[in-house]
Amino acid sequence: MPSLQSVISCLSDYDPTALPVDQANRIIGEVVEPVRGVEQVPIRSALDRVLAEDIVSPIDVPAHDNSAMDGYAFQGAALAAAQTGTVELEVIGSAFAGGAGALAPTAVQAVRIMTGAVMPAGCDTVVPQEFVETAADGARVRFAADCVRTGDNRRLRGEDLARGQAALQAGRILQPADLGLLASLGVAEVRVRRRLRVAFFSTGDELRSIGEPLDPGCVYDSNRYTLHGMLRRMNVDLLDMGVVRDDPDALEAAFRTACETADAVITSGGVSVGEADYTKQIMARLGDVTFWKIAMRPGRPMAFGRINSNGREALLFGLPGNPVAVMVTFYHFVRAALHRLMGASVPPLPLLRVRSVQAIRKKPGRTEYQRGILARAQDGQWEVRVTGQQGSGVLRSMSEANCFIVLGHEQDSVRAGDAVEVLLFDGLV
Ligand code: AMP
Ligand code: MG
Repeated sequence: MPSLQSVISCLSDYDPTALPVDQANRIIGEVVEPVRGVEQVPIRSALDRVLAEDIVSPIDVPAHDNSAMDGYAFQGAALAAAQTGTVELEVIGSAFAGGAGALAPTAVQAVRIMTGAVMPAGCDTVVPQEFVETAADGARVRFAADCVRTGDNRRLRGEDLARGQAALQAGRILQPADLGLLASLGVAEVRVRRRLRVAFFSTGDELRSIGEPLDPGCVYDSNRYTLHGMLRRMNVDLLDMGVVRDDPDALEAAFRTACETADAVITSGGVSVGEADYTKQIMARLGDVTFWKIAMRPGRPMAFGRINSNGREALLFGLPGNPVAVMVTFYHFVRAALHRLMGASVPPLPLLRVRSVQAIRKKPGRTEYQRGILARAQDGQWEVRVTGQQGSGVLRSMSEANCFIVLGHEQDSVRAGDAVEVLLFDGLV
């Protein structure tokens, strides 16, 4: 992996005390490289895992031209040949799904056919049964020539996937549809990247864990729980190391254990500028770590880099302590970095442009992530309003919201009715 210093030294306008979000992400992206380990798993176990190989279709799907409807298969030329506007055909037999399709009707014959059955030789069209009048003995059918066109209701061999065509690409996080696609190709097992292991802990002497008495001036540690939730959704192995006291020996031991057991270490708290505690000193001592003030709100301070202990190395994210800032920095920096570390190529999340119900004050020169509630207005359009209090300690604002209102670096204040960009929580992990 390239060193942080070498990446940073290539930037002409690098300012760690007012770092734009995009630049921080670019630096992180260049420093992080995917883990190498790969394992082979049955496709059911591959859900949410990162595909480590390209999958090329070994067969045509479907393997034969087949019917998309229950009806009668015939040669489409019969449509043009019908002088009276009515097609009349002799039915010579039936074709069921799963059969081999041995019938070969002539130009004046048809085959009764079920959905999925192989098209009889020479047939290219299926008339759905609801358009057809059948003679009492079932031996003949009549239908209007204009109720179908040649080629209708037939699925072509290989139209889903042709043999040799790329079905799935390495780097894909496998979705339910992908498991079905793999099954449709007859693929039983796939190679996936090994699962990441992520260690995390909270720092701060004011923190108490659930079950402990809440002493005066103390708060319950909530960050470990939001981190747990977000990391679980990323399908990584977790090592929750609890709350670590602001004590140099305890912190060093925690960082070393985390580094020696995990691919990435995430901490919260202790990275603010005025911070009196030891967290930053120890991070700096154990590795190649930089301390940023990011031009964003919430979530300004953040430490990023790599730490080493006893020959092991781990990526480090020192997130701010404020509960909303933890979530915002996780979603906007850690998520993409972990995707990269796990070898996943994930397309950027869609930002939707919707109407803002209210005016929002904003200064250019930083990116803001306000918590919003997106809902459908009376006129049928989608509109967003800001959740009540936006303080970076107000976790309720995240819980009530269903999206971030993303106000870009250069953006100025928003007037009521202006379009703003929102990032839906759904899909964000
Ligand atoms: P810090 O970044 O350490 O200055 O913390 C900023 C604010 O976040 C302080 O009010 C802390 O009490 C609070 N805080 C820090 N860590 C946590 C945590 N794990 N859970 C809840 N609040 C926290
Ligand atoms: Mg603190």
